[in-house]
Amino acid sequence: MRISHLPVAGKLAELGVELRPGASLAELTSLAIGGATDRLLIRRYESLPEVIHLLDSEAIPHRFLGGGTNVLVTDGELPWVILQLPSVNPGVRIEGNCAFVDAAADLGGTVTFCAKNNLGGMEGLIGVPGSVGGALRMNAGAYGMQIGSYVREVELYRAASGQIETLRGEQVRFDYRHTSFAPEDVMLRVKLELPSKPYRQILDGIRVCNEKRRASQPLNQKSAGCIFKNPPGASAGRMIDELALKGHRWGGAMVSDRHANFFVNIGQATCEDMLALIDDVRERVQRSFGFDLENEVIVWKN
Ligand SMILES: Cc1cc2nc3c(=O)[nH]c(=O)nc-3n(C[C@H](O)[C@H](O)[C@H](O)COP(=O)(O)OP(=O)(O)OC[C@H]3O[C@@H](n4cnc5c(N)ncnc54)[C@H](O)[C@@H]3O)c2cc1C
Repeated sequence: MRISHLPVAGKLAELGVELRPGASLAELTSLAIGGATDRLLIRRYESLPEVIHLLDSEAIPHRFLGGGTNVLVTDGELPWVILQLPSVNPGVRIEGNCAFVDAAADLGGTVTFCAKNNLGGMEGLIGVPGSVGGALRMNAGAYGMQIGSYVREVELYRAASGQIETLRGEQVRFDYRHTSFAPEDVMLRVKLELPSKPYRQILDGIRVCNEKRRASQPLNQKSAGCIFKNPPGASAGRMIDELALKGHRWGGAMVSDRHANFFVNIGQATCEDMLALIDDVRERVQRSFGFDLENEVIVWKN
């Protein structure tokens, strides 16, 4: 979707929005799949309610992108624009045991910044790519921990009120790769409360997690992490592996030969290739094990 030619472009500029016409989602996502659209960088958080109001009143559909590491985007000209917060470094401020973090901050960078300030707990998240905002939305987690456990406050744009509000941690439900935020809510900042730990000890934990990832995941290939959620009491990856589907291909999409729940783009995979592979694997798991696997990856179709 292109808005560059509309008068609305001028109004967006007044609201501190940088318009990047014709951005390729293949270049903005870790799967390297996706078509083109206009990208709007929100340079002033506070203007988000007005920006969204303007887009809605002009009937311009929009979606919010973080680091693009958990989305599978359709190909071709996209019928919505992309909103994004520009990256910040480090985007973290420490006060006692609390870290105040911008949603645009890099998740791994945040874990390390907190570690250097002797705040631990998030070692498992090292190696999870993407932004802190995306991690909040997905309740990212690994190796027995999840970010939601440390959330004390979230500042967000709430679609229901059209305003920026602050929620206390206990007002949000953080479940396995799912949260109670409304689909159109946009996280802007978070306050995390983290346990004190000596830097050296946190580094040891980080090293262990890094080694586990390196040993089991296709880190140098284009993926979105795990494609499916694990059903209660079962492992999606183990079931796919038991069906001998590692290396199974559909066009340019392939089940990783290192980790059966990672599907990789081995060349010029299209969104349709990846979706066909996902459906095929889901069907085989359903037939053999009786589980209906739910996507962990977020699919953006038209
Ligand atoms: C190699 C690899 C390993 C991975 N390992 C793990 C793992 O161990 N554990 C795990 O949980 N995940 C893992 N992932 C998946 C992914 O990295 C996480 O889900 C990550 O938290 C997504 O963040 P993002 O900023 O990239 O979100 P995006 O992919 O950009 O977006 C994901 C969803 O969040 C929404 N979103 C993003 N930012 C915001 C915001 N500020 N406000 C509101 N909504 C927002 C988007 O609209 C979208 O619906 C892995 C991915 C890769 C590629």
